[in-house]
Amino acid sequence: MPMYRTIGAVVVLLLMLIAGTFTAVKLSTDYLLDNDATSTARNWARYVTENVKDLEEIAAGERPSAASMVFFRLAQNVGEVFRYEIFNRYGYSQFVSDRGKISPVDVSEYNTEAARSIATGQPIVNAKKGEGLEWPPFFAQAYVPVIVDQHSIAIVAAYVDQTAQRNQFYKTFLITAASLCALTGAAFGIPAFAWYRRTKEKQQVDRRVRFLAHHDVLTGLSNRARLVDKLGQALTELPARGCGLALHFIDLDRFKEVNDTFGHDGGDFLLKTIAERLRAVTRPGDVIARIGGDEFIALQTAIKSKDEADEFAHRLTSALTMPMQFNGQAIVPTMSVGVALAPADGDTSERLLKSADLALYRCKTDGRNCIRFFQPEMDAELLARIEIEKTIRKAVLHDGFELHYQPTFEIASRRLIGFEALIRLPAEDGTLIPPAVFIPVAEDIRLIDQIGAWVLREACRTAATWPPHLTVAVNLSPAQFKAGSVSAIVADALEQAGLAPHRLELEITESLLLGESESIMAQLRTLKKMGVAVVMDDFGTGNSSLSYLWRFPFDKIKIDRSFMLAFGESGHDAETVVKTIIALGRELHMHVTVEGVETSGQATFLDQVNADMVQGFYFGRPVPACDVGADILADFQRATAKDTFPLEAEAILRLIK
Ligand code: C2E
Ligand code: MG
Ligand code: MG
Repeated sequence: MPMYRTIGAVVVLLLMLIAGTFTAVKLSTDYLLDNDATSTARNWARYVTENVKDLEEIAAGERPSAASMVFFRLAQNVGEVFRYEIFNRYGYSQFVSDRGKISPVDVSEYNTEAARSIATGQPIVNAKKGEGLEWPPFFAQAYVPVIVDQHSIAIVAAYVDQTAQRNQFYKTFLITAASLCALTGAAFGIPAFAWYRRTKEKQQVDRRVRFLAHHDVLTGLSNRARLVDKLGQALTELPARGCGLALHFIDLDRFKEVNDTFGHDGGDFLLKTIAERLRAVTRPGDVIARIGGDEFIALQTAIKSKDEADEFAHRLTSALTMPMQFNGQAIVPTMSVGVALAPADGDTSERLLKSADLALYRCKTDGRNCIRFFQPEMDAELLARIEIEKTIRKAVLHDGFELHYQPTFEIASRRLIGFEALIRLPAEDGTLIPPAVFIPVAEDIRLIDQIGAWVLREACRTAATWPPHLTVAVNLSPAQFKAGSVSAIVADALEQAGLAPHRLELEITESLLLGESESIMAQLRTLKKMGVAVVMDDFGTGNSSLSYLWRFPFDKIKIDRSFMLAFGESGHDAETVVKTIIALGRELHMHVTVEGVETSGQATFLDQVNADMVQGFYFGRPVPACDVGADILADFQRATAKDTFPLEAEAILRLIK
């Protein structure tokens, strides 16, 4: 039953109770007044009968005796009787006393009430309201038969002033009624009020629970359940409407970093601001939801073309990526947006969300901070990704990775100086998944730390078995620096393997320095202090900001293999750039290695331009640890003076055995 009807029913009930109480008290009062009048009149009549000896004579029309007159005068002041009349046995008035005037009546009048009282032998009482000044406001007129020897000899009519009683009764009645009403009101009202308050609170709690069941607490946007509901509804209405939908799946880039830098308050502030901006940029009818920590959805309804969705996605990102101020500091959010269109990319909520998620995944693999639309081939990519994730997890659990080693040569002497450890992930079918494919996935699923530590331990352990002049280079992913424990892991790997620190080279890429974090610089300095060489890998790609080279004293620069790929091609001046980087390295006292050397022509060129080291298929492909011995042996054989390398000879013999 709705609340207002319940309240109405309670009010009606209360009014009925009050009315009932008033009626009951009024009836009782009237009854009491009636009784009072009757008994007063009766008493007075008895008093008159007992004291007036010539009553029968008076009733017969004779003048009262002197004694009776004295009595009548006295009787005037008895009780509340302000007037009395004496009637004869036929109902005719004979004598009247009215406020000081006591006399036989001038003209005898017949009174029906008096006659009736005589006939029945019963008193008759009428309550009356006095009109005019000579009457009291409320009085009772009582006809009482005077019975002598069982015969009514006369009727005494007494007018009893009941104003005082009535006022007294009414006062009492009012107090009683008011108290009763108050009590009744309290008896019903207090529980009713308590019930009303409880119901109201319950309704509020219910409303809140219902709201929370469908909304995100922090931002007040719809939650996943409500989004799926609304999306399903919108999809079923599509055919009738003849238009389309676009589901924009928004993921904040590096939200964790915002949380780490600005604390949870900063993170919450960012999420709330994004929600506000979403509200501002969408139309009524569009649905906006927060479906995960940093994941939002904007459901754009009633669109006619993909262009509309594209235009909206751009409007969305430019609105959401505007800088915001938190505690005097600027937060500049970036985000990835995956877009799926309905009905083309899915006609159920589940499928459409999946399509948008796949498009979002593409954003992430494309470096984030971009918009991607769903493409049908993304399904297959997702399956492949799931497969890779599974293989990585298995390999982490069962030591399933392999390390291959690619030789590095000093170009001038053509002597082997070390190897770069390159990780491989064997797939179910025995093929090897290249690191470029699975390392980003391992970073994504946060297993890179474990894998990186394994690579370090394994590479150091293997290098410790090589001749002591050979180095080993290990690639480090930027994600490994986040925990701040790289130097400890490196120290541990060196110690366990018993490898001298100068034999280990750590390769990092420019992307590590992008954040310009002091913590990263500090970690690099610690590594260098430990005696480990720090190498800038893949130089010439990415941002290639020279400032990175000035900011940290790298031991070596490795020129990316893309320069060798472009070598000799007209239109590319790869040779000049390589020459310039080598010269720069000289100036900065950094060795320069050139990667991806595949031809003798490239090798000759690098020799001429004074590169320090080379690495590439021309000199040697990455091989499993067990085949490294062959490379070392070949190098040893190339060396002319065999006995100048006694240590190498011993080590090689050990390896070959
Ligand atoms: P990188 O450090 O620049 O390694 C050199 C890559 O170039 C290797 O690819 C190597 O096989 C390839 N390469 C070498 N010489 C030639 C050549 O003459 N021609 C061509 N076409 N390619 C050549 P790989 O092993 O697939 O590794 C790719 C990248 O994966 C590496 O690039 C490195 O950035 C990363 N990586 C490899 N191992 C690890 C690891 O243990 N940890 C991390 N974090 N990253 C790794
Ligand atoms: Mg490398
Ligand atoms: Mg490289």
